[in-house]
Amino acid sequence: ERWLFWHRRDLRLADNLGLAAAAAATPAVTGLYVLDPAIVADPLMAPARAWFLCESLRELAARWRAAGSRLLILRGDPAALVPLAAQAAGAAVVAWNREVEPYGRERDRQVAAALRGQGTRVLVDWDQLLVAPEAIRTGAGEPYRVYGPFLRNWRGQVEGRAARGAGSAGSLEPVAAPSGLLDLDPGALQGERASLWEALPRLDAMPSAEELGFSFSGADLCPCRPGEAAALSQLQAFADGGVNGGPLTAYEPGRNLPGEAGTSGLSAALSFGTLSPRQAWAAAREARALARSTEALTSIGVWEQELAWREFYQQALFHFPELADGPYRPQWRHFPWEDDPVRLRAWEEGLTGLPIIDAAMRQLNESGWMHNRCRMIVASYLVKDLIIDWRHGERAFMVRLVDGDLAANNGGWQWSASSGMDPRPLRIFNPSTQAAKFDPEATYIRRWLPELAHVATADLISGDIAPLERRGHPAPIVSHKIQQARFKALYAALPRG
Ligand code: FAD
Repeated sequence: ERWLFWHRRDLRLADNLGLAAAAAATPAVTGLYVLDPAIVADPLMAPARAWFLCESLRELAARWRAAGSRLLILRGDPAALVPLAAQAAGAAVVAWNREVEPYGRERDRQVAAALRGQGTRVLVDWDQLLVAPEAIRTGAGEPYRVYGPFLRNWRGQVEGRAARGAGSAGSLEPVAAPSGLLDLDPGALQGERASLWEALPRLDAMPSAEELGFSFSGADLCPCRPGEAAALSQLQAFADGGVNGGPLTAYEPGRNLPGEAGTSGLSAALSFGTLSPRQAWAAAREARALARSTEALTSIGVWEQELAWREFYQQALFHFPELADGPYRPQWRHFPWEDDPVRLRAWEEGLTGLPIIDAAMRQLNESGWMHNRCRMIVASYLVKDLIIDWRHGERAFMVRLVDGDLAANNGGWQWSASSGMDPRPLRIFNPSTQAAKFDPEATYIRRWLPELAHVATADLISGDIAPLERRGHPAPIVSHKIQQARFKALYAALPRG
């Protein structure tokens, strides 16, 4: 019997649990991807993400062919098209991996109901997380709202499963890509199935992002490389540090220095699923086994904690979908945001006059990616120095980021705004202090603001640059000292609760 495997945010053949389950049942598996206008034509879609998606799908289609079968790419509404594709292909079962976002969950519910209604079986399970959201709860049986205790539970579960090794239930050992699959023969379809197949809105070749109407010119600057092959080699280059002293073994403190390539650049790969979290975890484990110094072991542990942050925000969104709609802490709904559109535009365009902010926004605008330290700095600045509702920032990131992901982006913004689950109430970054600490030679600032490269390092860090030296770059639009005091006063006047 034929199975369909529906790819969504798991654009790879290797270590894809849903696909592995399908291939274990039968070699007659056909891949399916539906180019959903609700995602591709969403006003929040970033050109960088369209590029990453299209390039990854092109490679995925080639991999399906090499594995003996094909990837059927359809364009339209999955709720209608997945059941139709199953009928046309004569599929007995459609398998896919579960998702955490409210849109995806509702879509999947509709698709599953339609499939079951027509007698097609459905197989779904978790793949994109090491620990499924339902499997991680506090002692009282509640979902976690605080990262620290979540991390302890998560690490305990993950390490316990890793210790049990390959082949055991819940093993974290990555599984190989299927091979020797059997393709369906569209020419042999008959009757209603043949006409259904003909009527499917098929794309014979995956269009490029340009063909879909997106223009992204930052591919060479973006650290995230599309496709399964690139994700794996990026992971290897990063984690090989266990032996050769690469970035993973120096992640702490390298991860905090935006002027250095100290992080993995795997965020888009993990978000689109060209890489699995088990592959990432396995690489860290291998590096751990080879590590010789305390620094290396600490670094690997810190990187694993970042993988846990990813899972923390996903389980949070899964259990509290209302996070997507606004501040988690209710008193923030009453905050008197100033939302000055001129200031918002200056922030978006990297024209605030503060070099560390403008360099970071330039990195985002030009490359589709921004270093984590800088994401925290520009987010704090937008909210606490410009007194602009963090949801404007969340949106501005989403329309630009190659790795833009509802759970991580919303989590990051709520953390920065102090409106989220984080127990610490108020956190205000001083941009200049941050720059002094994490970009002490202004390497990062000069890289992204070459027009200010001639300015003395101390002035680039403080933002206190003589007018003649600015060469057209604006003077600071606000004073951190004044604005953070104003922000604190507004915050103090908020109703508690
Ligand atoms: P590494 O340092 O190599 O970390 C490894 C992986 O861990 C990352 O690829 C990512 O999957 C995960 N990770 C690391 N830090 C975090 C974190 N704080 N939260 C969740 N996952 C994390 N990350 C996204 O993937 N998508 C987003 O839309 C996003 N928006 C953000 C918005 C704000 C305001 C902030 C402060 C952070 C945001 N992050 C987001 C988290 C983080 O900045 C990126 O994951 C990280 O910079 C990606 O670089 P990397 O792959 O080199 O990470």
